[in-house]
Amino acid sequence: MEERGSPDGDPAWNLEQGSERPETPIQVVLRVRPMNAAELRRGEQTALHCSGTRTLQVSPPGGGPDVAFRFGAVLDGARTQEDVFRACGVRRLGELALRGFSCTVFTFGQTGSGKTYTLTGPPPQGEGVPVPPSLEGIMQRTFAWLLDRVQHLGVPVTLRASYLEIYNEQVRDLLSLGSPRPLPVRWNKTRGFHVEQLRVVEFRSLETLMDLLQMGLSRRRKSAHTLNQASSRSHALLTLYIGRPAPQQMPPMDPGEPPAGGKLCFVDLAGSEKVAATGSRGELMLEANSINRSLLALGHCISLLLDPQRKQSHIPFRDSKLTKLLADSLGGRGVTLMVACVSPSAQCLPETLSTLRYASRAQRVTTRPQAPKSPVAKQPQRLETEMLQLQEENRRLQLQLDQMDPKGPALRGARVAWAQRNLYGMLQEFMLENERLRKEISQLQSSRDLARDEQRVLSQQVLELQRRLLSARSLHQRDPAPAPPCSCLMVPVAPCHALPPLCSCPYCHLCPLCRAPLARWACPQREHHLPQVPGPAAPAGLPLSARPPAWAPPCSPGSAQCPGERSHGDWTQARGWAETLTGEEVVPSAPPLPVGAPKTPVLKGGVGAPNLAQRLEALRHQIGSSLRRGQGQPPASKGAQSPKDVLPPC
Ligand code: ADP
Ligand code: MG
Repeated sequence: MEERGSPDGDPAWNLEQGSERPETPIQVVLRVRPMNAAELRRGEQTALHCSGTRTLQVSPPGGGPDVAFRFGAVLDGARTQEDVFRACGVRRLGELALRGFSCTVFTFGQTGSGKTYTLTGPPPQGEGVPVPPSLEGIMQRTFAWLLDRVQHLGVPVTLRASYLEIYNEQVRDLLSLGSPRPLPVRWNKTRGFHVEQLRVVEFRSLETLMDLLQMGLSRRRKSAHTLNQASSRSHALLTLYIGRPAPQQMPPMDPGEPPAGGKLCFVDLAGSEKVAATGSRGELMLEANSINRSLLALGHCISLLLDPQRKQSHIPFRDSKLTKLLADSLGGRGVTLMVACVSPSAQCLPETLSTLRYASRAQRVTTRPQAPKSPVAKQPQRLETEMLQLQEENRRLQLQLDQMDPKGPALRGARVAWAQRNLYGMLQEFMLENERLRKEISQLQSSRDLARDEQRVLSQQVLELQRRLLSARSLHQRDPAPAPPCSCLMVPVAPCHALPPLCSCPYCHLCPLCRAPLARWACPQREHHLPQVPGPAAPAGLPLSARPPAWAPPCSPGSAQCPGERSHGDWTQARGWAETLTGEEVVPSAPPLPVGAPKTPVLKGGVGAPNLAQRLEALRHQIGSSLRRGQGQPPASKGAQSPKDVLPPC
């Protein structure tokens, strides 16, 4: 038989060539099986005659006018399996599936009319006995063709398969690892009707796919009755999923989204049967009723789909699992091929006529083929969402940056103009700018942290200087004898940020700024080292926490500077300095003493001093002056050294 597929008169041909038509009719081919041995034995007559390659003449046995039916192709009993494969147009569907369309091939007809034979060949003669290659059906031949086609495509393609049956209105997975159990059929907007928890197996070779087919065929429900010794008692759907990998730069698909790519589904329907004719009883009868009900629902849907007012009418796809799973193929976005199978026997004429009527009506049903949106096609929408997110992030970062850096707004402007050129450019631009802003913010944050650290160190120094000033005053009041001059009195201030080191007795700490020994009182172990200097006894009843810290200046009995009576202003002032410098509350190392009138002069250039350097200078100045007064030295202004260049004695 000559291969079909000519552009003439085949509306779906244009689909294959790329000019997608808004509406494509279901393609129908008719296969008339040869008379079988039993029919010949019974001397049954044929009522069907092929006229040309597309028309079938039906001659009623009792006389009467012939009825003609025209299909895409009519294949009589003499046609081989290979002829059917080449003529039915399944390769066109394979091509469309490779291009991302959802395609369905299904066989339709009375029980025993050759549906299963057309799709998969004769029933296996034994477990593990393969069908002879010459008798292989449309499915095996399409598998071989598709695998070969994929190999020659030159692009990576993922191939997966699922196989299910609808038996007594229950969906069962024929590839499940355990015993088949009913699976739910669900609907959602993206996927339409689909079976949940269905096992989908990836395969790379024809052998694997053939094994999957054999596995499914062997698990499918079959029974023997009068008209068919291996009658399928279920509708079986084998689906091949053809996936093309998404381009690398594309974002990943959303989880739960069906894989982009085409589908090629083979549906072997169970045949309609007259229970009286098949002699079905018991379970067989129940199965037959269930099969007939779902086929009735299918016929009803096809009738309604032919209604010119169909846009307004409701198509009851939900009436059966079969119509649910074929909804897309019949009235949706799929491309569909129906192979109607009939028996030539005049005995089966009523069922044959019924099949022919349905088949000829089905070819007037149209679908709107549409390739599932690939990641590339979805990209603009995804880009848009991503762009909005990036814009939002960008705005937030910009705000943050503007708060930290007042020059920020000037950085935009020119970039925006460039970014408006196109969507991709814009996205790229936002990503770059976000990256830059993130870096800038992290730099600013680290320099802020550095500044804070520095502030902390400086404030500690201020506290230390304050402490020394207080101790110097205390010393001079207690011991008017001149103290040995500190070497650092005559040297410029070293830029020293060191904190006081631990005691290096017998006599001293080191000065944190000049490293000269600190005053005796500063040593926390002075009681051991300098017994001649009386230590400050804790006032009776004074809680330990209220005792002066180890570094506090000693006091002589009755002194006004005794810790118990120490001016609150002395403490709060030092704390105020530190708080001013750090901007944070400074937790005192000892609890504040009771508030009292300040008995020591308030430091000049204190809390309101314009900057740290000035404050430090003022402190040094005061300390220097105080010491000179105590030592009877002339004021620094009269000496060789300026007050700012001296440090308090240690
Ligand atoms: P259905 O699936 O429609 O119920 P089957 O495909 O099982 O029918 O076919 C019924 C019987 O007819 C099987 O034994 C099958 O081998 C045989 N048969 C069907 N079609 C052909 C054909 N074209 N050539 C030879 N035998 C066929
Ligand atoms: Mg069958």
